[in-house]
Amino acid sequence: MKIDLSGKLALVTGGSRGIGRAIALALGEAGCDTLINYQHSEEAAEEVVCLLRQHHVRAKAYRADIADAAQAREMLDAIRAEFGVVDILVNNAGITRDRSFLKMTRAMWDEVLGVNLNGPFNVTHALLPGMVEKGWGRVINIASVNGQTGNFGQANYSVTKGGLIAFTYTLAREFARKGITVNAVSPGYTTTDMVRAMPEPVLESLRATIPMNRLGTPEEIAAAALFAASSQASYLTGQVLGVNGGLYM
Ligand code: NAP
Repeated sequence: MKIDLSGKLALVTGGSRGIGRAIALALGEAGCDTLINYQHSEEAAEEVVCLLRQHHVRAKAYRADIADAAQAREMLDAIRAEFGVVDILVNNAGITRDRSFLKMTRAMWDEVLGVNLNGPFNVTHALLPGMVEKGWGRVINIASVNGQTGNFGQANYSVTKGGLIAFTYTLAREFARKGITVNAVSPGYTTTDMVRAMPEPVLESLRATIPMNRLGTPEEIAAAALFAASSQASYLTGQVLGVNGGLYM
């Protein structure tokens, strides 16, 4: 099965590093014009753009804090003016601010909800009308196994990821008759900066809980997102594709 996304335009939020980077590169390799968003890592974002152009697709990086409605709006207006309608949206940008619940401050709660939930609202709300106009679209939300199981120290993060799954179900129902599919990819522990920040003993004990006894790679997560983005996935909607080495089944 060859996935060909030539002629399509994708936006990957948080495409400068980690899972978003791998998803952007997979889309580009499939011939998709691919735009990435980032917040701080300009150099890393420009490197992704260079790699994308090697696949002879149009590519550009946009700096915007997606939690900020005005910044998101400005980015999306610029995209619409320069590239037109986004066909494939990957809501990938996400952050953690971990602390056991009673030590978690309201600021830590708000910050994570701002990026992980309000961000997808800001971007998806603005892009869906274009997909409806075209009668074709793909929305892929990057959730997390911890949104399915909960996790010690991650009340804020787990709420956002469980929320993204509910968001996926709801939008899948609302847009199913408009040619738009909405799915979630729910990664387990994956080798990115987010996880590399964890101490090795913690990682070691985590590995032991994973049936495959290893972490996933960003490319393994990207493969699921690429499939959800493809034309071949035309009957796939409202699903949570768990890519977690068997951690949650
Ligand atoms: P990462 O390596 O920390 O990269 C995060 C990306 O999001 C970066 O590109 C970052 O941009 C961007 N970003 C952060 N805040 C942003 C904001 N306010 N506006 C725009 N962009 C922002 O993370 P990752 O591990 O690849 O995670 C990607 C997604 O997968 C997240 O939603 C995460 O929750 C989810 N996930 C990860 C794992 C895992 O084990 N790694 C497991 C399950 C789910 P800058 O580079 O500019 O900072």
